[in-house]
Amino acid sequence: MTSAHVRVSLVIPVYNEEESLPALFRRLTPVLEGLGRSCEVLFVNDGSRDRSLAFLLAYRDRHPTTVRVVDFNGNFGQHMAILAGFEKSRGDFVITMDADLQNPPEEIPRLVALLEAGHDVVGTYRVDRQDPLFRKVASRMVNGITNRITGLGLRDYGCMLRGYARRIVDYINSCPETTTFIPALAKKFAVNPAEIPVDHAERNAGTSKYGLYRLIRLNFDLMTGFSLVPLQAVTLLGMLVSIPSFLLMLLLLARRLLLGPEAEGVFTLLAINFFLMGITMLSVGIAGEYVGRIYQEVRRRPRFVIRTVYEGEPGGTPPPVPWQDATPEKEPLACMVGGEEARRD
Ligand code: UDP
Ligand code: MG
Repeated sequence: MTSAHVRVSLVIPVYNEEESLPALFRRLTPVLEGLGRSCEVLFVNDGSRDRSLAFLLAYRDRHPTTVRVVDFNGNFGQHMAILAGFEKSRGDFVITMDADLQNPPEEIPRLVALLEAGHDVVGTYRVDRQDPLFRKVASRMVNGITNRITGLGLRDYGCMLRGYARRIVDYINSCPETTTFIPALAKKFAVNPAEIPVDHAERNAGTSKYGLYRLIRLNFDLMTGFSLVPLQAVTLLGMLVSIPSFLLMLLLLARRLLLGPEAEGVFTLLAINFFLMGITMLSVGIAGEYVGRIYQEVRRRPRFVIRTVYEGEPGGTPPPVPWQDATPEKEPLACMVGGEEARRD
């Protein structure tokens, strides 16, 4: 790949987005052409099991100098996909965006203008958000709680249409953590951040890749990754609960001595007990969230595994470049749905 100077890198994580990609390509090309800057687009295929990779490679064939495709060995999650894109990016500015067209690509020039005006992180928040009600309500709560806990002050944690200056991307690349939340990390390093409102569309096609469980996990990553407040809150809660529990114990002891054995009040005691057990389980769980993440860090497994980076000179898709892999590469597209034929579409 040539080392021509790149002004803007666009990083797009892709996981089972075959239904959205054609429309994305259609809208992206004029935006990039109209930008008047040297651009590169990095798609990171996060272990898609549909024909996303074939579609990406076909698009790359049409734009071999600007489009690169990083193909993961499995599904490592949206944030890992973006991190891989960051590592491969070369632009002075890096823009991230979802593949499902919920963020309009037409907003990219505004982000670039703000970055060029000297803002090192440009965040966006969604106005008139087009998502299911439960997502909107949950998101509002999570944004509020997260800001309280982490003190980061981001308006919309979930909106991934964002721009970063090279310096910020380099800082993020130097963070080796295995669970992270990129907008929050960037905000930590930002000196002159900006936030702008952007339109939000309904998902173009396909379904959200975040079910309730994945959303909760992602938010735990955010909370534990950027704050110790949950641990401290549990300690404080433990102290608060201990005081009335101790007083209750004294009371019961006094009654035992003064009135003799009593059987009444068993259910009250049970209720108190269940309450305390609930708090204990919650506390163990919260401590466990941190311990689990520490365990992940000390195991030091790779955060993601790249199977192949498709990059090269014009003239069709060149032989895939095996990525930091000493073992001889087998057919790189062996697991691809659609196979070799689809790649040449
Ligand atoms: N995504 C990914 N890996 C995942 C989940 C999602 O690369 O494990 C990508 C997905 O293809 C999309 C973006 O991350 O480009 C946002 O995902 P989605 O639209 O499902 O999230 P939502 O908008 O519902 O929060
Ligand atoms: Mg989406």
